[in-house]
Amino acid sequence: MRHSAGVEAGRMERGVNVPQSYRLVRRDARAERTVVRLRTGATFGGDEIAICAGPCGVESAEQLETVARAVAAAGANVLRGGAYKPRTSPYSFQGLGEEGLKLLRHAADRNHLAVVTEVMDPRDVENVVRYADMLQIGARNMQNFPLLREAGATRTPVLLKRGLSATVQEWLLAAEYVLLGGNEGVVLCERGVRSFDVATRNVLDISVVPLLEDMTHLPVIVDPSHAVGIARLVPPIAVASVAIGAHGLLIEVHPDPASALSDGAQSLDCAQFEALMRRLGPVAEVAGRRLPRRYRVVSAESASKADSAVRSSSSGVKLA
Ligand code: PEP
Ligand code: MN
Repeated sequence: MRHSAGVEAGRMERGVNVPQSYRLVRRDARAERTVVRLRTGATFGGDEIAICAGPCGVESAEQLETVARAVAAAGANVLRGGAYKPRTSPYSFQGLGEEGLKLLRHAADRNHLAVVTEVMDPRDVENVVRYADMLQIGARNMQNFPLLREAGATRTPVLLKRGLSATVQEWLLAAEYVLLGGNEGVVLCERGVRSFDVATRNVLDISVVPLLEDMTHLPVIVDPSHAVGIARLVPPIAVASVAIGAHGLLIEVHPDPASALSDGAQSLDCAQFEALMRRLGPVAEVAGRRLPRRYRVVSAESASKADSAVRSSSSGVKLA
């Protein structure tokens, strides 16, 4: 059979070509699908989907606390936010660095959320894992091989975004680097690819969700925010992503998108995010999944006395 340039011949599985070089990521490398579980209990790949929400960049304690409280109340279970921002221009806001990591950890702990945050430099990995529950490897770094190896040497789960114009093969082989290091907790994140058309920021390749289901045992989530770049389009694309079987969403939320230091045009405000979460419940159910379980924050004292429903008494959070 002929394949287009650069596409390796492999075994056809349900009409999908799965190259033999996907030793660790290929669907049949595992009997079961991978479920990636974060320290807080959030899961990617099981019946419960993961909702990662938060600002593009961590800007201040006040901004982050407002957003963390709002997204947790609306039902998100992972707080996103960049402390190290990959910006096209060196003159744009670059992120708060380690100060941003501290703010993320603090806001997440207060609201029983996990933290996912981007790491760009292999030299920062060791420090970022001290604060984060999940490392984001961004689109611009999907083929930063030293970074993939460094993340593969940790045991912190990795959210691996699809590169700006990466093929599925390149993306899966990037994931292979992380697994090869012994880190099995990789979640793939489709965030749109570049095309000739600039009507939206990128073009969301929603077909990869069912396609990857046949090719790999790894969970796949969708980031509608970076895919379309227009806040108005984020909710319908988020709904479609869950309906088609995505194991989670990554959504940018800002308390005041108009004043955001990055990606304001694609950020939902807190009320828009809450409205979206209300729409998602029934859609998740149709897809055979459910939204994250809700938690209510209880006092440390009553949490320590509480029954087995308490997941983590130290975090003072109880299943509602
Ligand atoms: C982000 O998540 O803010 C980001 C920079 O995303 P991407 O790498 O997909 O462009
Ligand atoms: Mn962004």
